[in-house]
Amino acid sequence: MNVHGYCTRCKRIRRVNVTAPFTGTPTGICAECQQKEVDTRARVGELTIYVPVGPITSIIDPGSAVVGRPGNGSRTTVYYESGRHYEEHDRTFDSLLLHAASRLVTKYPTIALASLQDDELIPVGTYDYASKTHTITDPTTFNAWRAHART
Ligand SMILES: [Zn+2]
Repeated sequence: MNVHGYCTRCKRIRRVNVTAPFTGTPTGICAECQQKEVDTRARVGELTIYVPVGPITSIIDPGSAVVGRPGNGSRTTVYYESGRHYEEHDRTFDSLLLHAASRLVTKYPTIALASLQDDELIPVGTYDYASKTHTITDPTTFNAWRAHART
């Protein structure tokens, strides 16, 4: 249902697609933002969330968000973010993921990247950069890694 309301993506009042019943101002996603999401998904695809193991963990801070695209060789380039320089409220895993993934997607020059062997990375989930949502498929490994995050 398309009604006049608040777009939660671009934060503007536009015609938005509302799927749930609402009271007050309808909120949803406008057609422009929806299209942008479709384009981004086509361009970026799905990223993999990793937990690193071995010597690299002396370089990557425990609990960091680590993302990459599964390589077609035996090495994968990952981008990571520990939140070390962030304000405390900005150190949620979602926030760290977004920062690391944004650098990967834009190929932003950064020192926070590493080329790792497959046996140095445990895939623990996926990240959909288009909708900024993640899914954890190995909560045991993920939670053990996150338990040591700087908070
Ligand atoms: Zn919008």
